[in-house]
Amino acid sequence: MKKEFSHFQPESIFAPQKLEGQKLEKKQNIEFVTDAKSGKIVKMGDPRDVRDWLEAQRKKNPDLKISIEKGNTVLPGMIDAHNHLIYGTLDVIQAGYVFDIESPKEMMNSIKKQTQNKNENLETPKILLGHNTALIPNIYRESLDEASPKRPICLVDISFHGARLNSKMIKLVKKVAEKEIKNGNKISGTLNEKTGQATEGFSLLAIQVAEAYHDIEKISEGMKNKIDEWVHRGITGIHEMAPLSWQDFIATLLTRKEWEKKEKTEFPVRQIFMFPELLKKLKNTQEELERAGLFNPNKDWGMIGMKLLADGSFGSHTAMLDKSYDDINSKGTEFHSIKELNNAIEMARNFGMEKIAMHAIGDRGIKRALETAKKWIKLAETTQIDPTRFRIEHFELSQEMLEETKSLGVWVNSEPNFLTDFIYRDRLSGRITQICPHADIIQKGIPMHFGSDGMPTSALFGIWAATHHPNSKERISFEQALAAYSLMGAEYEHNNGQGRIAEGASADIIVLKKETLNKLLQGDERADEFKKLGENSDYLKDKVSNLESGIAKIYREGKLIDKK
Ligand SMILES: [Zn+2]
Repeated sequence: MKKEFSHFQPESIFAPQKLEGQKLEKKQNIEFVTDAKSGKIVKMGDPRDVRDWLEAQRKKNPDLKISIEKGNTVLPGMIDAHNHLIYGTLDVIQAGYVFDIESPKEMMNSIKKQTQNKNENLETPKILLGHNTALIPNIYRESLDEASPKRPICLVDISFHGARLNSKMIKLVKKVAEKEIKNGNKISGTLNEKTGQATEGFSLLAIQVAEAYHDIEKISEGMKNKIDEWVHRGITGIHEMAPLSWQDFIATLLTRKEWEKKEKTEFPVRQIFMFPELLKKLKNTQEELERAGLFNPNKDWGMIGMKLLADGSFGSHTAMLDKSYDDINSKGTEFHSIKELNNAIEMARNFGMEKIAMHAIGDRGIKRALETAKKWIKLAETTQIDPTRFRIEHFELSQEMLEETKSLGVWVNSEPNFLTDFIYRDRLSGRITQICPHADIIQKGIPMHFGSDGMPTSALFGIWAATHHPNSKERISFEQALAAYSLMGAEYEHNNGQGRIAEGASADIIVLKKETLNKLLQGDERADEFKKLGENSDYLKDKVSNLESGIAKIYREGKLIDKK
């Protein structure tokens, strides 16, 4: 390959470089050079120094090709530290959508229409996503049987932590569940055969059941398409937050193999967190996977972490709360029991793993995550494992636990787009203003990275949400939000080359139009905006594409991969 440089002369650069305090600044009058061959930023500094350096390079190498990238604002490639490749799977299994449906009648009609689509194989189970249980609480097995008497269906709620099944689907799920239990696996959550209400593990099982009707290669293709879509939004690093099934994990490894062969760049999914049961299976089959060229036990364990869950979500009333939900008499449900958690971290220690991510949304859930962190730190210290890589996912109602989180040295991953949880005023009332306390987290000095959970996958939207927090006290600056979406994800990985713009860093660059930067920087105070975004998916989609259209170009490892 011939030497090929790009000379960036942007109007401004936002270059997160230092972790301390996450105080970053906008830089003007700085230029840099990227090299498409090494994929790195090879020179950065004062314009005159950079030009002198380039001149010297040209003298040494007369064939050197230099393209100029002038104007606009430059940001580093983003790291989505919490996302799910299952979204690619859902495309492959032709999952349908019932977002925005506001009346039971409309819901019934939509289900009828979608389950009888002649272009689909009507023998396969149909998954429908986006059931808003706050708007339509009373749709259960009987109504679903009426809407779809023949085809198995599963109506998944917006939070992904619960679903309603029809009789056909209940039968299929029960069969798989029985087999799993016979094999000694425990399924979290419950399945109420009378109402068809499935929670947690049982609702995920319904998706797995649907998946089993499709080839693994097809699923891997779906994942590849998803990753492509994300990379073209400037997301060049991804933490996968737990494959739902062994088949999903193998599909991910297949996708990586294909990616490395065809794209010849690093696979963007750099961390995969897995449920304990799947980790056990990985340990037992790693030699087999090595022979298949899918997993290198010497090297790949570094990208593997353990995923645990304290609780569920507000959407399905399963996030664990100290005080009951307002609309029903419940304080939420545990996902992993304390005994399961203890066994799991013991296993992580025995496997020599250092990264543990624990999902916790409600205040009581977060307390349980912190208890687990405490135990983990003790275990890790006695085994000489770095104890500083425990992270809590979502961390929504965390206000009262910040002090303890800081003192334990736990990381947190927040999804600023979860601020659309403002729709759950019906069940949380006043508590809703306390979700996602970003400013307090930063002020306490707790290391925080951002993710999207795919709802939707857009770092720009996440940055917009965090900088326009409906609770103005928790609003953070553009620079802070950017650091959480880039540098901090890489810091967590011990990765020095990503999420930054500096000499030696990976040349993953977003070139952003000036108007979009202004949109992100404008601080209008409209709390109701988040409610509207949570309730109206078209409105949300428009908002996201409006921001995303502000990306002029994307470079990955120094190569221009997208020009809009
Ligand atoms: Zn998630």
